[in-house]
Amino acid sequence: MLKYVNYDIVFQEIPNETTLAINISNCPNNCKGCHSPFLREDIGKELTKDFLLHLISKYEESITCICFMGGDSSPKEIDYFANYVLTQSKSNIKTGWYSGKQELPKDISLTNFQYIKLGAYKEKFGSLKSRTTNQRLYKIKNNKLEDITHMFWR
Ligand code: SF4
Repeated sequence: MLKYVNYDIVFQEIPNETTLAINISNCPNNCKGCHSPFLREDIGKELTKDFLLHLISKYEESITCICFMGGDSSPKEIDYFANYVLTQSKSNIKTGWYSGKQELPKDISLTNFQYIKLGAYKEKFGSLKSRTTNQRLYKIKNNKLEDITHMFWR
């Protein structure tokens, strides 16, 4: 079961999108210098279809994307919920996922996402805004990953 801690409308996590970012807890990664250590705790409320439906109906007119921030403890559920958002949205809301894994988990279907961020946070390489970052943000096009990390460096 995935749990969310909070959510917010953000503008920088996915370039050129107005994104409703949902922070998922129980992160299994252990990045040194983690920006949000509380997300490693098993806290929050259960992420459900009803909750997502509520968010979609409330924010559909003011957002263009819903992004799951975390969820590496259960990529299969992230995949399931991303598909749910795509099927329920009447205004073609896009879906994104911020993962701390280096490789795309096998349970993720690219058809359920328009954006995926991969890579753990490593202090010496910096965040996505750093040109030396090890993290990558991909746009999904025709079932292929297009690296758009450079859009953070303008
Ligand atoms: S993936 Fe994010 S939340 Fe998880 S340990 Fe790394 S920096 Fe912290």
